Amino acid sequence: MADPKKLVEMLKSLEDQLVTCMRCGMCQAQCPVFAQSGREGDVTRGKIALLAGLAEEMIKDPEGVNNKLNRCLLCGTCEANCPSGVKVTDIFLRARAIMAAYNGMSPTQKLIFQQLLTHPGLFNTILDLGAKFQGIFTKPVNDMLGTSCARFNAPIIGDRHFKTLAAKPLHSDVPSLDTPAGASNLRVAFYPGCVVDKIYPSVGHAVLKVLKHHGVGVFMPKGQACCGIPAISNGDVASFQKMVKANIELFRKGDFDYLITPCATCTSTIKKIWPAYYEDKSDQITLAKIVDKVKDVSAFLVDVLKVSPMDTEGTKTVTYHDPCHLRNSLGVTAQPRTLLKATPGVKFVEMTDAASCCGSGGSFNLKFYELSQEIGRKKAQHIIDSQAETVATGCPACMMQMTDMLSKAGASRKVRHVVELYADTL
Ligand code: SF4
Ligand code: SF4
Ligand code: SF4
Repeated sequence: MADPKKLVEMLKSLEDQLVTCMRCGMCQAQCPVFAQSGREGDVTRGKIALLAGLAEEMIKDPEGVNNKLNRCLLCGTCEANCPSGVKVTDIFLRARAIMAAYNGMSPTQKLIFQQLLTHPGLFNTILDLGAKFQGIFTKPVNDMLGTSCARFNAPIIGDRHFKTLAAKPLHSDVPSLDTPAGASNLRVAFYPGCVVDKIYPSVGHAVLKVLKHHGVGVFMPKGQACCGIPAISNGDVASFQKMVKANIELFRKGDFDYLITPCATCTSTIKKIWPAYYEDKSDQITLAKIVDKVKDVSAFLVDVLKVSPMDTEGTKTVTYHDPCHLRNSLGVTAQPRTLLKATPGVKFVEMTDAASCCGSGGSFNLKFYELSQEIGRKKAQHIIDSQAETVATGCPACMMQMTDMLSKAGASRKVRHVVELYADTL
């Protein structure tokens, strides 16, 4: 357990934030978890009521409190629509940090956050090894979606249909880059994020192709660490500090106009979570510069490079899923659609409820897979109903979830990142 004095301070600062909730219950209409379960404890208002008595509740039933707190995708839909401006994500992250400080971390969490994610070299080596041997444990299940499933009974994988680790992650093909600005007169730092690096390197290659095409110089330092969201969303604030510090050290060495990522979660984490939780005072100036410069790749292409829609529509039907971290956290909704409309050959079709969460939610998917699937199945049905051949999005985690759901539904649809479709045509 953390120092009791520190714990009391943490509880006090949480209490101060809770008073902004006026208990109107409007978050009920927004929450994808509540839409499935109908349980008040699953929606923000119910969780806030629980947190109001957190000190007492966590002594009575720490496991129960943890479970209730974790039944949330951290999608931010309630926050984006809350009439009182309650800082829901911040409240939930702080509550999870309190619970982790009180309960301690599980051995698995310690291994993942404290040993692996804070040591990017070791993390890469272990997953590179995993990529070599994964064929023993997995078998292909859907050629169009490129999914596999477990060969044997596997506790964590379950009956998921998933994209396996890439045979060649981005970091092994392109360990680092430092190229001068071309025709655009711009240079960007490139932060692919772990899922793009290890599962969807094609997305990273697409970004690099697009940047080269537009004459943008790239600074991509070797040894990038995870953005830290898995650690902080599980309450491990100390590991989060280390991951952010490692990234700050790398990016402070570069000279760039923007920091680009193709991962909605990374962009949102760098923009919103890093400044709120990173504590080292000596790094605050560099941190502020990075936070100011970070941009989603499609927002960069449309807002900065002025990529604009084509006059003529193509024939390849593509629909778009709004990742929560782009829509709710950063307000990026128009630019990915514009990028699709600027892609030769694409006919853009809007799906029903494009803005609804796909149910991924990082570790939510691991902890509550049944619930995650119930939410994801709705999304898959909307994709199928749109009649589009391809669903595009801007978040690799959403890509994984939609791929799983479509593969299980036996749907012949492709799942691509918006930047991949654009890069295909250059
Ligand atoms: S979190 Fe916002 S929407 Fe939900 S009950 Fe509180 S004030 Fe209302
Ligand atoms: S963040 Fe998303 S899942 Fe969590 S309570 Fe809010 S709407 Fe529900
Ligand atoms: S948000 Fe997800 S993909 Fe992006 S760096 Fe963090 S863990 Fe990796």
